[in-house]
Amino acid sequence: MKNKIEHGKRHFIGVDLGGTKIASVLVNEDNLPLANVQMPTCPEEGQDAVMERIIASISELASKLPGGIDDVEAIGIGSPGPLDKELGMVVDAPNLKWKDVPVTSTIHVATGLPVYLENDANVAALAENRMGVGRGTKNMVYITVSTGIGSGLILDGRLYSGTTGGAGELGHVTVVPDGPMCGCGNRGCLESLASGTAIAKRAREAATRTAGSGILSAAGGKIDNIDAVLVSSCAEAGDPTATAILRNAFEYLGIVVANIVNLLNVEMVVIGGGVSQIGGMLFDTVRRVVDLRAFPFMAKDAKIVPAALGVDAGMLGAACYAMEKQSGED
Ligand SMILES: [Zn+2]
Repeated sequence: MKNKIEHGKRHFIGVDLGGTKIASVLVNEDNLPLANVQMPTCPEEGQDAVMERIIASISELASKLPGGIDDVEAIGIGSPGPLDKELGMVVDAPNLKWKDVPVTSTIHVATGLPVYLENDANVAALAENRMGVGRGTKNMVYITVSTGIGSGLILDGRLYSGTTGGAGELGHVTVVPDGPMCGCGNRGCLESLASGTAIAKRAREAATRTAGSGILSAAGGKIDNIDAVLVSSCAEAGDPTATAILRNAFEYLGIVVANIVNLLNVEMVVIGGGVSQIGGMLFDTVRRVVDLRAFPFMAKDAKIVPAALGVDAGMLGAACYAMEKQSGED
């Protein structure tokens, strides 16, 4: 991070709270990152320990500024949901084993600064829209396909979070009425069909069914070694089962993207997350399904592109969210 600290600029800190790491960044008012820091989350040590590491990350970044924490204007936190934004609480985050944790008040007490909490996929959407591949677009949807599936909506240039802040749960729209059971308790959610976890599960089932499975031998005979990355490399090597599993998953994703295009007439759909690294096959399949199913006049204007900011999107978006809240732009 080579951007210089300049006097007179406003500064913000963004924190991306994940199940394995806490990634934080210090930015100036031009959204330029000045410094970043990463710490392990270690949720098994309990919520107080995690909160202490978040506060330590903030202190470390603030110490880079001449006036320390006094030179920071606000803090944004991107967290897995669901959240109660009014109370500043993480209501239920299975990865963190958190229930009803008062994040904003704890950090506010420790720092004296305004603290803004928002869903992690929503802040990542904001980052891709303000400084990533979606820069300049007014209507954009960001989808992250990883172990789960999340999304964030930018509509008319603003982050859309719905009536109570829950909007954008694209992973849990129903695609197959009697489909696989999803972690949310519903059947046939997109996440149960197209996430990295779903792809690995289908591949494990196929490997168990088929004697002499190419996927199983690529996994060294160990079923537990089968993950989405391995399925992708098997597909690249021409394995027909792996190819069919991925195509099937990406077709479901394509159906949901086609629905988004018809519903929202977006300019751009940005797809990020670990599974999006599979690249060509995912984007080609989604494009094909969108062109097949969505209205042509809307499909032709909807670009479907890979995310640009990678794992930095969460912390950059959280900082950006704090800045916009503070500036009254949200
Ligand atoms: Zn679900």
